[in-house]
Amino acid sequence: MAVEQTPITPIHEFAPAKVNLYLHVTGKREDGYHLLDSLVMFADVGDRITIEPSDTLTLDHAGLFGNALPDPSENLIMRAAMVLQDAHDIDAGARITLTKNLPVASGIGGGSADAAAALRGLCRLWDIDSTSDIVMNLALSLGADVPVCLRGRSTIMRGIGENFTDIEDGPSTHAMLVNPGVGVSTPTVFKTRSGDFSTGVDWGACQGVTLAERLRPTRNDLERPAITLSPVIKDVLNALAGLEGVQLARMSGSGATCFGLFPNAEATQAGVTRLKSDHPDWWTTATVFGP
Ligand code: C5P
Repeated sequence: MAVEQTPITPIHEFAPAKVNLYLHVTGKREDGYHLLDSLVMFADVGDRITIEPSDTLTLDHAGLFGNALPDPSENLIMRAAMVLQDAHDIDAGARITLTKNLPVASGIGGGSADAAAALRGLCRLWDIDSTSDIVMNLALSLGADVPVCLRGRSTIMRGIGENFTDIEDGPSTHAMLVNPGVGVSTPTVFKTRSGDFSTGVDWGACQGVTLAERLRPTRNDLERPAITLSPVIKDVLNALAGLEGVQLARMSGSGATCFGLFPNAEATQAGVTRLKSDHPDWWTTATVFGP
């Protein structure tokens, strides 16, 4: 399909960090993928994608972590663009620039959030409905976390990442993200997990006034295997738990990024200042999750 390229360009898309506030592994499918039950929220920090019309498809990297990325041809963004072109018979290209502000392979979406943002931006450029079942299925074919990132709102995610129940009370919270600079392989973390599967969470029945209180009876089942593979994650959790005012310290996704929840911006910023001084080599940022 020849595309009339007349949208306002360049197109800018934000790829926010995705955080798993809890993550229960509830089973395993025959194809090896694990069934999850997870509260997913999005931070106000993230990568940025810029898209301009072009005859060919290209990707450039910039940003603090741009150099840590593999060759652009191996980036999930390029696969996302190609499957979208194929599915909608698009013969136009796009010049994509990724500004990588988040650490890579870090349990906060990263590649999935970038691919989802690219899908959203390319759908705008090529006049495709990004909420269609076709695009959602393409997203799932790219990775289990891509559909939730494409939707980009707080939700309880189940299945391998394709079933969503949006939460009506739309919580939001001050938080800190901390990454110790180690990349963790998601498949290896899942393979290292052992023991019984967890039950799902009845989020509506979780008691508590604050989000942290409601999260207390839940956990991230991937924390233990990730710590086995990268013990520094335990140091991050201990450092977060020792900060004044912290309400909850937990790992996100398959790690290694961990988060702390705080009652207000001042307590969060004081915690960031403290951790940056104690661990200058860790990536640490204050943020807000949700709604
Ligand atoms: O789908 P994605 O490529 O992000 O997943 C990477 C790997 O993580 C999968 O190949 C699988 O080993 C593991 N995984 C899983 N269950 C999920 C998501 C990921 O076992 N729900």
